Amino acid sequence: MGRMGAQDPSKGPPAAPTPALRLQGIRKNYGGVVAVAGVDLVIDEGEFFTLLGPSGSGKTTLLRMIAGFERPDAGRIELGGRDVTSLPPHLRDTNTVFQDYALFPHMSVAQNIGYGLRIKRIPGAERQRRVDRALRMVRLEGLGTRRPNQLSGGQRQRVALARAVINEPEVLLLDEPLGALDLKLRQEMQIELKQIQKEVGITFVYVTHDQEEALTMSDRVAVMSNGRIEQIGTPVDIYERPATEFVAGFIGISNLLLRNGVKFVVRPEKIRMLTEDEQPEPGMQVEPGTVEEVVYVGMSTRYVVRLDRGEHLVAVRQNMDAAGDAHRFQGRPVRLAWTADHTYVLETKER
Ligand code: ADP
Ligand code: MG
Repeated sequence: MGRMGAQDPSKGPPAAPTPALRLQGIRKNYGGVVAVAGVDLVIDEGEFFTLLGPSGSGKTTLLRMIAGFERPDAGRIELGGRDVTSLPPHLRDTNTVFQDYALFPHMSVAQNIGYGLRIKRIPGAERQRRVDRALRMVRLEGLGTRRPNQLSGGQRQRVALARAVINEPEVLLLDEPLGALDLKLRQEMQIELKQIQKEVGITFVYVTHDQEEALTMSDRVAVMSNGRIEQIGTPVDIYERPATEFVAGFIGISNLLLRNGVKFVVRPEKIRMLTEDEQPEPGMQVEPGTVEEVVYVGMSTRYVVRLDRGEHLVAVRQNMDAAGDAHRFQGRPVRLAWTADHTYVLETKER
């Protein structure tokens, strides 16, 4: 029988497929420091799942527990339905890619990539075939004989990725793997990494502190703060419908509004900035204010507006035309307008 469960309708609905990873009540302290404060998580097979949070929020600790480099103080870790909580790393069907690549400097690129297969005593011919395929996958054909120190940062990171993917682990764990690359290369690698993940179909658990990176690549994102998960959702969920003030502030520009003790968020690009002669559309919420700052950021211009009621909101306008005159708004009275379905009420979390 397949893992989707019974086909016979008389036996009830088919069982849900076994998740790639399940975490239940995971905790970890270091001395007095709570690194991970109780995490529950289910990740599906083939998902690109990202742990996103600021430095110190417990991402690496959580990833190291999944890999088996750390033991949780409490909780249970299942990989493919199997309890692995007390198994060492080499008995788990995972591989880890680190930020610093951790390549063997004395080995060639091909030897680095084929290392895991050699350990598993895969015969030379098959090893060669799989190494060649992995080199093609990460677009490093022809560089197999080079040493790591003869490669650029981006190329080294691809070797590290190929070396992990070639073992075909059930789950690939990646801890800020693009963190050492400059912005342009990082953005290119984000797209490539996502493509490679789709091609190989391996479940990725990806750690980053970079919200744009998380939104670009992930099927789902868990936003972490102080060792806890604040929200889990698709990129659209966490950006458009942040559940907490922390999520709203960490992902994008927060734009908080307080109304009768209730906190709302409205994203900058959902706000229309109207001058005296422009009218809002019917049904829009309108707030008068004054432009305090005009920030030209190339593709768009950001306006920081102090509302007459006191709050500051940021509005963004695409620079459709040359934006040379954006500064004419500086110090001017404007009205900000948005529709009610673009505002979201935030939960207030008691801790
Ligand atoms: P992140 O990867 O999100 O930056 P970490 O998981 O590395 O966060 O760290 C979470 C918290 O646990 C931090 O306060 C960090 O200082 C602490 N921590 C992590 N590893 C250790 C360790 N080996 N010893 C003591 N404290 C640690
Ligand atoms: Mg970390």
